[in-house]
This record gives sequence, C-alpha cells and structure tokens, in this order.
Amino acid sequence: MRFELQANCPTLDIIDYFDGIMTKHDILKQYFGHDAFRPGQEELIDGILGGRDVLGIMPTGGGKSMCYQIPAMLTEGITLVISPLISLMKDQVMALKNVGVGAAYINSTLTFEQLKTVYRRIGEGAYKIIYAAPERLTADGFLSVMRGAKISLLAVDEAHCISQWGQDFRPSYLKITEFLALLPSRPVVAAYTATATESVRQDIVRILGLRDPYTVVTGFDRPNLSFSVEKPKNKTGRLLDFIRARGDKSGIVYCATRGAVDKVYEKLREEGIPSARYHAGMEDSERAAEQDDFGYDRKTVMVATNAFGMGIDKSNIGWVVHYNMPKSVEAYYQEAGRAGRDGSRAECVLFFSPGDVTTARFLIENGSENEELTPEERAMVTAADMARLDAMVGYCKTTDCLRGYILDYFGQPHEEKCGNCSNCTDEFADVDITTEAQMILSCVKRVRNHLGYFVGVSLIVGVLRGANTGRIRELGLNEVSTYGLMSTTKADGVRDIIDFLIREGYLGINEEYQTLIHGPRAAEVLFHGAFVTMPVRIVSYEEPGEKTKKKEKVPQAFTSDVPEELMKRLKTERRRFAEEEGVPLYVIFSNAALEDMARRRPRTKAEFLDVSGVGSVKAEKYGKAFLQAISEWEEKSAEPL
Ligand code: ADP
Ligand code: MG
Ligand code: ZN
Repeated sequence: MRFELQANCPTLDIIDYFDGIMTKHDILKQYFGHDAFRPGQEELIDGILGGRDVLGIMPTGGGKSMCYQIPAMLTEGITLVISPLISLMKDQVMALKNVGVGAAYINSTLTFEQLKTVYRRIGEGAYKIIYAAPERLTADGFLSVMRGAKISLLAVDEAHCISQWGQDFRPSYLKITEFLALLPSRPVVAAYTATATESVRQDIVRILGLRDPYTVVTGFDRPNLSFSVEKPKNKTGRLLDFIRARGDKSGIVYCATRGAVDKVYEKLREEGIPSARYHAGMEDSERAAEQDDFGYDRKTVMVATNAFGMGIDKSNIGWVVHYNMPKSVEAYYQEAGRAGRDGSRAECVLFFSPGDVTTARFLIENGSENEELTPEERAMVTAADMARLDAMVGYCKTTDCLRGYILDYFGQPHEEKCGNCSNCTDEFADVDITTEAQMILSCVKRVRNHLGYFVGVSLIVGVLRGANTGRIRELGLNEVSTYGLMSTTKADGVRDIIDFLIREGYLGINEEYQTLIHGPRAAEVLFHGAFVTMPVRIVSYEEPGEKTKKKEKVPQAFTSDVPEELMKRLKTERRRFAEEEGVPLYVIFSNAALEDMARRRPRTKAEFLDVSGVGSVKAEKYGKAFLQAISEWEEKSAEPL
C-alpha cells in the first residue's frame, strides 16, 4: 500500500463547504452517510463553530473523530489534529480521502520528498484536515509551514496523554502548549478523551490552556456491548469453543503477561485459527506487521497484552475476551470497549480465575518503575492501584448487573438491570448453604479461640478443607474441631461461599490486618438458626470436554437476521474494493453498513444512499457494484426450485 499525497475529491467540490450551503447535518449524511448525531456530537460541533474551545469526554467508540472532522469541513482554513498513534493517522486519512475530504498526515514515516510535497500542497490549500504526531510540533520546518498556514482549529485527540496521572502519559504532548504559543494567532482548541477521572480532566484544561471550554460529558453506556464474566475450568479449551462459535468475526484476546500471550497464540495457531500476536517484547516491525494483518482482516484474532491499545481504530471487532482479569475497571472498559465501535452488537467476556488476582497484585507491586517518584509517592500510587484492583475483583464476583457495576464506577445513574449482561440473563438457582455457613462461621470462631487472634481467608479455607500444611500443623490448627469439615468442597467453592457471606454481612474483613472476622449478621446463623441461601449461576456455556447437552447461546449479532448468502456476496465486493485500493475493509464499509444494506436491499442509487454509512462519494464509487450484487442475488434466490 502506498500513501497518496494528492488530495482526491472525486465528486464534491471543496468550495461547497464555504458558501453556507452545507449544514452539519448535510455533511454527516452526504460525506459520512449517517442520519443522526450521536450523543454529544452536535453540541461539541456547535461549540467549535461558535468559536469556543471545547472538551469532549465520550467513551471509546462514541464518535469523537466526527466532532472535529465536521467542524473542519465547515470552517475556512486547516484543522490540525494531534494524535498519538501513527498507524491510526494513516487509517483516518485513508478513510477521509475515501469520502472525498482532502487530508494528509505528517509523521516520521514520510520520506523527505513526501514531506516536501505535503508542505507544498498545504500552501496550495489542498487539505482541510492534517494529522500530526506531537513530536513534530516544534520541528523547524513544520513550525514555519504552520505559521504561514491558516489554522482555524487545533484538535487534540486522546488528550489524556498530556496528564501524568493518566495511564498513557506522553511527554511530547506537552509540546502542544509550546506550539500554540508560537502561532501568529491562536486557533480554537478542542480536546477529546475517554478518560473518566476528574484529575486528568483538570490537567487537560490546565496544561492545554483551554479557555472557558464548553465541556460535554456523554453517557458511558455502550448499549450494543454485552458483558459477561465466566469462570471456565479450562480457559484455553473454553476460548477455542468460544472463537469457533463466532465464525469469522474478528476479536481480541487480552492476556495479562507476554508469556500468556505466547502460550495462547501458539495454541490458537495449532488449532488452525488465523491469529496475530502483539506485545512489547516483540520487534517493532513484527508488531506492525501483526497489527496490519489484524487490521486488514487477514487474521481474525489478535492475542495481545494491554500494549495493544489506544488508537486501535478497527470498527468491526465483534468480541473482546479477557483471558486474565485486568488491573482496573478503567482499563477493562477501555479494552473491552474496542469491540463494536461500528455500533453493531458485540460481546465482552472476562475469564476469571482467582490466580488472576495474584498475578495482578504482583504486577502492581513490581510494576511501578517510574524513577521520578519519591518512595512516598510510589506508595500512594501502589495503594491507589490496589484500590482499583479491588473494584475490578468486585466486578468479577458481583451477582448484580455488570453494566450497572461499570456505570456505578464511572458515577453514572442507570437502570437496575440492563438485560444484556451475564448476571441479568443467566439463570441463578437459590442453593441452601446453611450448613456450609455454619461450618465457616464456627471455624472462624474456633481458630480465633485457639490462637487468640483472627487469621486471613486462605488459612481458614485450608483448615476447613483439612489441608496438611506445615503452617497449619505448627499452629496446631489440625486439632480444632472444624478441621477438614469441608474436605470434599473445592477451595474455589469455599472461597465463593466466603465471598458471599462477606457481601451479605455474615462475615467481614478487618481492614488493618486483612483478617476474616465475624460480620454483624453472624449471630443469626450461629445462634438463631437462620437459613442462608446463595444464588448460584447455572452455567450457560458448555465446559470443554464435559458431555453436557447444553448448547451455547450465541447472541443475535452472530445469528444475523439477514440472508447469509447475500452477506457473503456483499463481503466479497467489499474485499475486492479493499484490495484494489489497498485499504482496510472497514474503510470501504463497516459490517454494520453491510448488514443494513442486506436488510434494505436497495434497488436504486437513491435507495442506496439511505443505507447507514453510505454518503455521496461512496455511493458514487461503490453503488453500481453493490447494487448489482444485490440484484443478482435477488434474481437467483427468486428462481423456482
Ligand atoms: P472514538 O474516537 O470516540 O472512539 P470514532 O470517532 O472512532 O470513536 O467512531 C467510532 C465509530 O462510530 C466509527 O466507525 C464512526 O464511523 C461511527 N460513528 C461516528 N459518529 C456516528 C454517527 N453519528 N452515526 C453512526 N455512526 C457514527
Ligand atoms: Mg478516537
Ligand atoms: Zn445487566
């Protein structure tokens, strides 16, 4: 694939933007093919057009790009977009050019000749939108060109990169402020992020020097995503079943460590699943090739650590599986949120095992290499990380609505049940655990009486299961009367019950010593004969290797309501164009657009324009081929048998 330096505007004339003929709705429809704005988009666009700085806080996939691309096309002069990732720039520029907007990017991948051409064409007014890497901003050549150009809007994408408190601090983002000061006149500045934390938001406003920014925080809910937590006994086997049930849908598998990535990747390859791999231990070139293979749908599955992250712009990701639990709900929501950006239904699944908690703790305790921090600061950061980890563990263990749990975390009100997460849709059976509760509560009491102090959860679990460890023998806990009472229950099972008893107030945790103590309701069970029931999930998927008759319910999105044959034809057309133009599939049409096309089955150009995701340039370029594919399919399927 080669980078085309010329702006190509096949059918629409740039002059259209300036004479007031087009409104923001026209642009949305004619260029991008969408009928309505998403929450927050209109307000942010209006703010910019009114000459005001803006700060847009929208979730991943919320549609932030449109909030600077549309104003760029409605104002005179150039919009300069600062973006942290080079691969993302290339894709965005290709997508813009493909709908007829003059765009270019400036980063380290351009040759000197290419750079010169871009600079020359800036002078000729060829571009409405220019993407630049932050490192470029203070380079002499760049500065002198930009000082001579008319920049009407400076858009800072992924603006949280400017804050040291964010997870993705990039010192080069600080150059933005310097750059602004060197321009002959200050453009409107717009900043966008998906970060929810208040301190990061404040940093963005302060460091960028936003002037009384019009701030829009949209809802963090992503209704098209379903959430589930699974506790598979055999994660790899379960993952294989999961991927196979989803056919050729693209997906990401996130693992906690490089080692886990390599292991899962090898396994998937052995099983013939076209997979790519990405982690910080690989060569740059190999990583880039793998990312490309995934981006261009040559490989369906990406196995990665969280290094495969911000700025992945692939919009047709159908599922994200977390093979290990991440370290925080923020990280989880950001990573899981990479599914379903085109608005079609997508699945976010987390495979939880208690070992993940240990790994995460280890990574937090050993991960803080930031040399700039004093020991006190480091201790604070670690404590904050641990608190975030606890919230994440809470997500894995709650039996309440998972979406509700996430929205609570981001401080957003919500319905009690979403109906689209495993806790809302799984069936639970109330199981009588009165006997187990009595055993556990009295074990806590006996151990306390024996030693004179309370102990942690693991030791209690060990005593109940009759573990024969040195520690237990040393403390003489093999002599207390509750020793071995639950020897037939698995350790995880005992822990699950203990977690439940903590949540319900029968047990508690002493914060200072991290010991298991009685809760306010302990007496109900110990002395008043109360019954205790616990909701136990009826697993909705088949454990690999177990011969149950239960068949996994694959959500609607994957058993689509449109004819399969027709979708195949449309996808073939899309692939043909993508290969011809050397762009990723979704730059031609998103899956959501193809599905809408198959549902509507347009017969005319005008009807084709009604398809979501089809604007005039795309209709002009691809209309004929797709209309023909549809009509051929209709003729064929109408043939008498
Ligand atoms: P973000 O940067 O907020 O994560 P993007 O700007 O990458 O999100 O947009 C995600 C997807 O949403 C893209 O595929 C884009 O085409 C689509 N999109 C944006 N705005 C709209 C809209 N108003 N209607 C339909 N789809 C939209
Ligand atoms: Mg974005
Ligand atoms: Zn729910």
